[in-house]
Amino acid sequence: MGKIFSICNQKGGVGKTTSAVNLATVIAQAGWRVLIIDMDAQGNATSGLGEDKETLESTSYQLIVDKVDPKTTVRRTQVERLDLIPANADFSGAELELINQSEREFVLRKQLGKISEDYDFILIDCPPSLGLITINCLTASKYIIIPLQCEYYALEGLGQLLRTHQLVKEKLNPDLEIGGVIMTMADFRTNLTQQVIEEVRSYFQEKVFETVIPRSVKLSEAPSFGKPAVIYDPQNRGSKSYRAVGQEFLQRYSKDLIISNDAHEALQENESQETPS
Ligand code: ATP
Ligand code: MG
Repeated sequence: MGKIFSICNQKGGVGKTTSAVNLATVIAQAGWRVLIIDMDAQGNATSGLGEDKETLESTSYQLIVDKVDPKTTVRRTQVERLDLIPANADFSGAELELINQSEREFVLRKQLGKISEDYDFILIDCPPSLGLITINCLTASKYIIIPLQCEYYALEGLGQLLRTHQLVKEKLNPDLEIGGVIMTMADFRTNLTQQVIEEVRSYFQEKVFETVIPRSVKLSEAPSFGKPAVIYDPQNRGSKSYRAVGQEFLQRYSKDLIISNDAHEALQENESQETPS
């Protein structure tokens, strides 16, 4: 069964979507079958993967409101082995629609149960809130990945996120664990960045990925070309960092998966290439 991860932080603009899209791409390039689910009405993961948000017929709205067969919402992307369940502005009504449904916290979980066999990894790009949509994402997931921006207020609001984790774990999904913390948008010239990284490491310890993502113009301009940065400009520092986070991710989570032939070959190829820094 695919391992399900929520890329989650209720704070806006901390790098959830950038991390979800690039990490998903790197993992797929390494040979694994990956599904990324856009659960945000902004549809940034959708457009960032080159899909036209205006012409979509079946999206994560149909997935959780109409409860259609999940397979009908899945699209192939430009990246081999990476599939997408897209979202667009229609999704803004989804939260209200869910409120009156029975077992409303479990809708996404049940739907993903029908397709998780088809994937090694499923990454959910969460919206910037802790409402019912995010609760659905967390209830469906085994792990939370928290992107944190390297800035003074990085830890603000984190208490609320951790309380939500505890609540979901106690009441809805006992398996939910914090899988990792990705530090994003670092400006290594400033002491502040170093201080924030130290503070976050002392709190989350080894959960924090070793690789810190730097601030990078290429990372921010890639979505306007409808491409993950790791494909748009593979050699820039931001892309190299996401490749390194991807390797750490696979070290943590691919160990107990039965390796498919594709994955095995791709991993061997990757190992013989230079290690990204
Ligand atoms: P939201 O809460 O609105 O969904 P988010 O947490 O998904 O936001 P992103 O959309 O990934 O955050 O990033 C916010 C903005 O910062 C985007 O314009 C993105 O391109 C840019 N950005 C993300 N990571 C970096 C980085 N490392 N360097 C420079 N810009 C970045
Ligand atoms: Mg986003």
